[in-house]
Order: sequence, then structure tokens, then C-alpha cells
Amino acid sequence: MEQVDLKCTACGGRLAATRTDLPLQVDETRLVTLLGLPVLACETCGECLIEDEVMSEIDEALSTSPDAMPITDAQRAELDRRLDDMEREGPVGLTWDEMEAKARSRKR
Ligand SMILES: [Zn+2]
Repeated sequence: MEQVDLKCTACGGRLAATRTDLPLQVDETRLVTLLGLPVLACETCGECLIEDEVMSEIDEALSTSPDAMPITDAQRAELDRRLDDMEREGPVGLTWDEMEAKARSRKR
């Protein structure tokens, strides 16, 4: 895992570049899961930060083609399973507003 020179905004722990599948609530009715999203994960508390560059790519993808993410039945089943897992484990994904707020908070 590649080490990066950034600190966790939540606990000050060390961040490591990794990839994760991140559920993202687009609006009231739509939830997309971003697969293999490059993020910075805190080694101490597990907080995930998204780099500005990645953030703007997501933003663009969602704003230009919010529905252009067709998924197969098998993928849908897998997503359902993951969502079930997350419901058991606690807080589900972040809303877009929360993600943007996080991205902004890193700039201070
Ligand atoms: Zn942390």
C-alpha cells in the first residue's frame, strides 16, 4: 500500500492510498456504488478521504450522465448484498453533500 503525506482530518492518523467500493447517495431515490474508487484511508480510524481530482471526476460523471450506470442483475444482487452488509455494520454511505464537505474541509 502506497503511503501518502497526508493526515486524517478526523484523528490525525496516517493515510494510505487504496481503493474501495463507495456507496453514494445521489438524491432521494438514487444510490450509486462507485466501484474501485481511489481513496485515502486512515490507518487508525478507517476514515476515507477522496482526493479533489477524483471528486471532480465523480461530480462530472454524475452531472453529465446520472443514469448512465446500467447494471446487470448479478451486479444488482451483489449491491444488495453489500448494502445489507453495510446496514448491519452501521452507517451507510455518505451523501454527496457530506462528501463535498469532507473534500472542502481538507483544504483548510
Ligand atoms: Zn483517522
